Amino acid sequence: MAASAGAEPHAVGLDIGGTKIAGGVVTESGRVLDRTRVPTPPDDQAATLAALLALVDELWARNPGVEAIGLGAAGLVERPGGNARWAPHNTYRRMELRRLLHERTGLPTSVDNDANAAAWAESRFGAGAASGDLVLVTVGTGIGGGLVLDGGIYHGEHGFAGELGHLIVDPEGDRCACGNRGCLEAMASGSTLGRLGREAAAGDPAGRLATLAALDGGPVTGEVVFAAASEGDKVALGLFERIGHWLGVGIASLVTIFDPDLVVVGGGVAATGELLLAPARASFERYVHARDHRDLPPVVPARLGADAGLVGAATLALARH
Ligand SMILES: [Zn+2]
Repeated sequence: MAASAGAEPHAVGLDIGGTKIAGGVVTESGRVLDRTRVPTPPDDQAATLAALLALVDELWARNPGVEAIGLGAAGLVERPGGNARWAPHNTYRRMELRRLLHERTGLPTSVDNDANAAAWAESRFGAGAASGDLVLVTVGTGIGGGLVLDGGIYHGEHGFAGELGHLIVDPEGDRCACGNRGCLEAMASGSTLGRLGREAAAGDPAGRLATLAALDGGPVTGEVVFAAASEGDKVALGLFERIGHWLGVGIASLVTIFDPDLVVVGGGVAATGELLLAPARASFERYVHARDHRDLPPVVPARLGADAGLVGAATLALARH
């Protein structure tokens, strides 16, 4: 059911993730009027484009006043062309998303990396409302991120800046899906939490992790580790300490480089709150450069949840057109 937009300009926002495509209609001030979603097609680019167009058609039919389309896509998104060059969990390879959507709809279209769009949304409407220099780290299955610097998204020369999950925090560390070792994503993501949980359960079959997973009828996942930690299980709490430690190491480097006024931690694992954030803050404060001589930015949870990507994409499209 579409809510009334009033006179405020509004746009379609789309957020392509590895498992789902979320769509919404969003006003200039970041209010979400309408939402829909479909699974990300597994097979090919034609199916991805068809799914995107179907979402646009559905939302446009219910909200005929939309003025633009904004798309946030996982992976490397070329700027200014708006081509999705590559993403580990999506099929697109050099897919001309901006041109294809614009030609098929006639609407002004802008394309950005999904985490960049989320960082923009958090800086304007979420945890960092009025923040000019914000670092967003999203901790989910993987780790993504975005940089808002001097009031704008920092894209770098090609649009590929801000891949914070692949900041290497320990070159001798765990293997990352990208091929390197010791990326922040390999040391502190939800997948890593699940893997560490399975290792711990294998070594202690009578422990709480193994018991909870057996009750669930599946392997130990990040959710199982969270459930055990919430009960006060020491092993599970230790695993949150461990991934939080590495997250804080990454944040320390990011703050040392960018001197932001705020660090926002989003994504599914961040929804566990202080279990992750408390150890992350402790190691951030331990490792940041010249701790005693600088003003440390707060490290806070994201506020916009799963809407951040589509809110950012839509409001960027309205600002650009
Ligand atoms: Zn990596």
